Amino acid sequence: MTAKSYVRKVRSGEDRLWRASAPALARLDVELTERCNFACRHCSVGLPAGDRAARAREWPAARWKALLSEAADLGCLVVRLTGGEPALRDDFEDIYVHARRLGLRVMLFTNAALVTPGLARLLADVPPLEAVEVSVYGLTPESSEAATGTPGSFAATRRGLSLLGERGVSFVVKGAVLPPTRGEMDGLEAWAAGLPGLAGPVSWVTLLDLHSRRDAARSAVIAGLRMEAGEFVRLARRGGEAAVDEWREFCGRDGRPRGDRLFSCLPAAASAAVDAYGRLQYCLGLRHPDTVYDLAAGSLREAVTDFLPRLRERRAAGPAYLERCGRCFLKGLCQQCPAKSWAEHGTLDTPVEYFCDVAHAQAVAAGLLERGKKAWTVSDGAARAARRNGA
Ligand code: SF4
Ligand code: SF4
Repeated sequence: MTAKSYVRKVRSGEDRLWRASAPALARLDVELTERCNFACRHCSVGLPAGDRAARAREWPAARWKALLSEAADLGCLVVRLTGGEPALRDDFEDIYVHARRLGLRVMLFTNAALVTPGLARLLADVPPLEAVEVSVYGLTPESSEAATGTPGSFAATRRGLSLLGERGVSFVVKGAVLPPTRGEMDGLEAWAAGLPGLAGPVSWVTLLDLHSRRDAARSAVIAGLRMEAGEFVRLARRGGEAAVDEWREFCGRDGRPRGDRLFSCLPAAASAAVDAYGRLQYCLGLRHPDTVYDLAAGSLREAVTDFLPRLRERRAAGPAYLERCGRCFLKGLCQQCPAKSWAEHGTLDTPVEYFCDVAHAQAVAAGLLERGKKAWTVSDGAARAARRNGA
């Protein structure tokens, strides 16, 4: 007789029952603080750890706990705790434990430098149920400290990872391709593969976003760290042609231009984000004042059942956007979106030249566009991709 399993594992959101009665909110992203113990030059968020004004405005633990309870009542299954560096808050453990008591899975984004033996023990005893995501910027003290702008960051992150590993806490490593770390990708992946507790392959931040509060000086620094479109394609090909095949397949499946539709990135009720001061956003990077809901003057329920659905219906009006992005078969592949448009231009609907260049380089590599041709002038983009895919 063979053993029969009465348990079938499915990802949240992928089984029919759940989909038929989707909750008002499936995931909540919580930016507990914009402050960070590191000072990464490429960061689109981080304020200094000692920024008193920011600290004074941050929501206290009691507000976060009430919000998490409200999210759970709305059917939320997952909360992402991020920053800045969330562990910088003295009350981080209190908020974390509350989320777990509510039954929420916790995605924790951290640089691990503030992981103490006590926090590692807590994460082992009350597991987040999602692998902790640890940013590791650099394979050596020199490259790490050049990337983070923080002496001692290399040793601190390594110490935190060791504590997590010793306690059997699952984590994944996120690297960033920056001028000081560009030559280290293979080395970092080989090093990470030997870490106890590693739960998956290294992921990479490659295309940098400008500063999400539109700090012009910070954005200028980030722009200077960006890789060129051709380099992005070269890096994607590091492990062979799988990524390029994927781009082509993706354009074949989803190459329809979006017209004046602005928000095509998230399905209804998928997720929402809240900044450190209790303002709800469509996603973490989108801080345009027209798209932000102040939770102090309303409720999470109203925000996700009324404000966000109305926002999702908002249409693009910018002439350049309608002329280009609205007619472009690379829209699904391209990183241009209202959040990027906000960071770059202070609008919701302006094409972003950097991401436009990258998407065009991808399309040329995938054989979907002739070099120099603009995607929005091509009317048969999806059909081109389908032909190239052999359909
Ligand atoms: S560790 Fe992360 S949040 Fe902190 S400064 Fe660096 S990129 Fe920003
Ligand atoms: S590739 Fe250019 S035109 Fe097309 S969606 Fe991106 S930014 Fe817009």
